[in-house]
Amino acid sequence: MPSLPPSDPSLIRGWLEAIGPELAERVREDVSLRPLTTLRVGGPAQRYLRVETEHELATAAAAAQRIGVSCFVLAGGSNLCISDRGIRGIVIHNAAQACSIGPVTYAAAGHGLILLSLKALEAGLGGLAFAIGIPGSVGGALVSNAGAYRHSIGPLVRRVLVTHAGETGWVGPEWMQFGYRDSRLRHSGAPAGCLVAVELGLEPGCADTIRSEARRYQHNRIWRQPWAPSAGSFFKNVYDAELAQRVPDLPDDLRKAGVVPAGYLSQACGCRGLRCGDAQISPRHGNFIVNTGQATASDVRNLAEEVKRRVMERFGVALEEEVIYAGDWEQWTAAA
Ligand SMILES: Cc1cc2nc3c(=O)[nH]c(=O)nc-3n(C[C@H](O)[C@H](O)[C@H](O)COP(=O)(O)OP(=O)(O)OC[C@H]3O[C@@H](n4cnc5c(N)ncnc54)[C@H](O)[C@@H]3O)c2cc1C
Repeated sequence: MPSLPPSDPSLIRGWLEAIGPELAERVREDVSLRPLTTLRVGGPAQRYLRVETEHELATAAAAAQRIGVSCFVLAGGSNLCISDRGIRGIVIHNAAQACSIGPVTYAAAGHGLILLSLKALEAGLGGLAFAIGIPGSVGGALVSNAGAYRHSIGPLVRRVLVTHAGETGWVGPEWMQFGYRDSRLRHSGAPAGCLVAVELGLEPGCADTIRSEARRYQHNRIWRQPWAPSAGSFFKNVYDAELAQRVPDLPDDLRKAGVVPAGYLSQACGCRGLRCGDAQISPRHGNFIVNTGQATASDVRNLAEEVKRRVMERFGVALEEEVIYAGDWEQWTAAA
């Protein structure tokens, strides 16, 4: 496994002092992140701390923000391609699981999204049925405004508990700047924030109706998605009415909505089954990069670049990644 370049040890020492001895003694060095991601690629964390409560998360993140040490929050690892060189500075692995279900549902950011969707369903609360098959945490879902079947989590948000610039407090949904698979936390220019918890507004309804809606979504997913390790859809779909008119064989509802699935473009360019090392465009789904064995993060990224190149050449469209490249990619260059 490639080793990490050293980060400023005095900043890390300052952070260890600031978080207090109880948390500091749980911090580990050079922890492999590969098994903590669904794509099963990536190098180590220079320093790694697993937190179990919202308080621990806020304490560790606020201290890092005040000191200015680089800090990455890892949750379910289901939307990530972590560099083979790993992540410099601190990785906080968020496992805070608290929740309280009701028309205003509180969830710690580390709570599993699928589990939350199931709990809401059992309580006869609608709004989260779309999330039944989306792995990962509530916090990760907020960062990318996760969604499916034309629903997303953003519109459900009442307020968010955020640690930002070293302070923790509640902010309204507008703070998140939600967009299609997007929020301010995906923008590299913006100061890093850490999501601690959220309140979601859920509509009381009939549990049976919500359950059958969720079942329908899940059934659809089981048939369409590959089972090999992946990070889900690799590229965002393309909202472009003009493109939707000109691509052949697009179903009418998508043409009318002006949306072209990235998997459709990839497939039309002959990308299904394409490989780079053990990374492969799933033969079942043109927008899934799967790890068929010992793929490296570079294999995955090189393959993604090839899909982008082909789609640009044939359709003149710049595909944008839905998956987040995290960690130290400075020395990576696309294979020719
Ligand atoms: C099989 C499969 C199917 C999928 N289907 C869908 C789908 O239908 N729709 C969809 O939208 N996505 C889908 N995904 C992608 C993924 O599941 C979602 O994006 C998910 O919400 C990511 O959550 P996570 O906890 O795994 O985040 P991670 O992958 O751990 O992190 C993602 C990003 O969020 C940041 N982050 C996480 N928690 C916090 C926090 N508390 N504060 C600040 N930043 C944080 C991380 O730093 C990172 O930048 C799928 C993935 C897989 C593997």
